[in-house]
Amino acid sequence: MVEDLSYQVERKKIKNIYIRVLPPDGKVKVTAPRQVSDRTIEEFVRSRREWILAARRKLLSQPLHKVYTYENGEKHLLWGKEYFLEVVYTKGRPCASVQGEQILLEIPKEGDAAFRQKLVEDLYRRQLKARVPLLMEKYTQIVGKTPDSWGVKNMKTRWGTCNVTDKRIWLNLQLAKFPQECLEYVIVHELVHLYEKGHNAVFYGYMDRFYPGWREIRKILKG
Ligand SMILES: [Zn+2]
Repeated sequence: MVEDLSYQVERKKIKNIYIRVLPPDGKVKVTAPRQVSDRTIEEFVRSRREWILAARRKLLSQPLHKVYTYENGEKHLLWGKEYFLEVVYTKGRPCASVQGEQILLEIPKEGDAAFRQKLVEDLYRRQLKARVPLLMEKYTQIVGKTPDSWGVKNMKTRWGTCNVTDKRIWLNLQLAKFPQECLEYVIVHELVHLYEKGHNAVFYGYMDRFYPGWREIRKILKG
């Protein structure tokens, strides 16, 4: 432990000390040669403190890795807009819904963070399933390719995937947090994969044609 920084040490047959800041919550992992003392490791971590904090800030600011506690008043995103979470205890059916400027979370008293997260994700899924069909219809006409099926699921590292053999598209549940253009961009991106598997000049040529301005949108998703 260095001041407020705790870290995990793994010893290996290597020459140098390495520090990594890991998703999803920014845990610090140090890999060190077997013969190096705890003291030396501590000094090394201390010398890299600023770098570690910066790496952790960067990681936690990435929308895919942001960790929420789902407490009353916490800010959550929906279609690029901030909503305050309002937690209300109920004996009725648990539910997350949009009420004006708030996301209302009606839960039993014992509902913990994981329980709350699931309800908010249900809300995101409903929101996406309400918007995607029309967008899919619009962009399949523009792109000229139609998937056999599409679905929504929570993904850790990708905004969307396209299985070109099965013509199946998956969209990341987290897209409900961003302005709708981000969802549109991902839909077009995955549809274009039905023409071209790789991310190459041909692929980007299609993107420029079917969704001009996609580069700007991609910047939003990259944080
Ligand atoms: Zn792709």
